[in-house]
Amino acid sequence: MNTLHLYNTLSNKIEPFEPITPKHVGIYVCGPTVYGPPHLGHVRGPIVFDVLRKYLILQGNKVRYVRNITDVGHLVGDADEGEDKLAKQAKVEQLEPMEVAQAYTDSYNWVMDKINVLKPSIEPRATGHIIEQIEMIQTIIDKGLAYEVNGSVYFDVMAYSEQQHYGQLSGRVLEDLQAGAGNQSRSLEGQDEKRSANDFALWKRASAEHIMQWSSPWGKGFPGWHIECSAMSARYLGDHFDIHGGGMDLLFPHHECEIAQSTAAHNHAPAKYWVHHNMITINGQKMAKSLGNGIMVEQLFKGDHPLLAQAFGPMTLRFFVLQAHYRGTLDFSNDALLAAQKGWQRMQTAFKLLNNLPTVHEGATIEADDLLAAVVSSLNDDLNTPQVIASLFELARRINLVNDGKATMTEATKATMKSLVVDYCQGVLGLVSEDAGAGDGLADAMDIIMALRGQAKADKNWGLSDQIRDALKAKGFEIKDGKDGTTWNKL
Ligand SMILES: [Zn+2]
Repeated sequence: MNTLHLYNTLSNKIEPFEPITPKHVGIYVCGPTVYGPPHLGHVRGPIVFDVLRKYLILQGNKVRYVRNITDVGHLVGDADEGEDKLAKQAKVEQLEPMEVAQAYTDSYNWVMDKINVLKPSIEPRATGHIIEQIEMIQTIIDKGLAYEVNGSVYFDVMAYSEQQHYGQLSGRVLEDLQAGAGNQSRSLEGQDEKRSANDFALWKRASAEHIMQWSSPWGKGFPGWHIECSAMSARYLGDHFDIHGGGMDLLFPHHECEIAQSTAAHNHAPAKYWVHHNMITINGQKMAKSLGNGIMVEQLFKGDHPLLAQAFGPMTLRFFVLQAHYRGTLDFSNDALLAAQKGWQRMQTAFKLLNNLPTVHEGATIEADDLLAAVVSSLNDDLNTPQVIASLFELARRINLVNDGKATMTEATKATMKSLVVDYCQGVLGLVSEDAGAGDGLADAMDIIMALRGQAKADKNWGLSDQIRDALKAKGFEIKDGKDGTTWNKL
């Protein structure tokens, strides 16, 4: 495909991606509810949307990427009942809820750095945007699409449905929803206040002992889970932005409710494209505490889990995630991770040879333009990263052929190959050499130092060139001068 196409869950179709404002892209991705350490289920979405973001940047777009932190309002039942997840964990750990939020935001971002996910342009917190949420709720009440009962405010799904299509994203119809709702206990807290079982909370009245509560026009309380994303996306990306991302598990109720709230407040849907990644399984099973298969990311890095025979590095994890298309399921197992680790090592070993490969002026037997075209076309085809990786393996094969003297290439082909490695493997896929550190720029810094040392040698300033080599050696870098230039290794 010649231009980027994405599967839009809103239309159930693959559509050409056209930003609302040319060369400017606004992306909102639902971030974590920070009440526990990050597990394997937390890495797929960030990696997928990081690839999308990096590809859009490579194409010359200015991208504003907003990923929120949910630190209030997400209740244990994922609906309108149960304790707040943060408040519950705070009691267990005997901490302030904001201490819990800070600790797990930090551990989440530590993992994001390790797996080479770019930091968001803006990382807004729900508790930092109570005013925006209250204002939006008031707007929805003023439009007659929400109502207050005993200090709580509920979204009126039936009233909304008379004007708009509720269920457009998830494909659910109200009759199904009512049948489903009928199976739930109506005695759950607050359920009897609702006009219809489909209605959902925008604001919940807080009991006196509830730790997190704020003043509002409806008394002391806290926001519902869904309103934060509507309020914060509008605040930072405007009421009509390009891409809203998240996991398929958020399709309903979270994203359906977001669309309803934003449409109620602004008279149109918030995002043009809704992009959802599929979920992960572990040894073919859904990850669940009760199954004992919940693997924390740190446990993966340390090999510290009964289901793992060894530790796996952050780049193996990233490579493994990108070997599957984001809309398919992804099954973690020790064997599958091991295969990914071997594949990634094989690719890296070949790519490291590239700089020192010889070139010919004429009679070259291989080229790489076809691979570059294939990689771009695969990315354009709804981010088909498994196909991109297949092309990169073919690149590795051709590099090895030249290295073994079984094929020849021109300088132009070498430049194309470098672009594939630097712009696409390292750049878009974000797969960087593990020993160079994920995204810390070491390789780039070393290129600069090597160039300066090369200049010193050209100037016959042997004292300076030896001084650079010896100083680097003292820090564990081995510098080798060969006839084709200088290479370096971190020992
Ligand atoms: Zn959200």
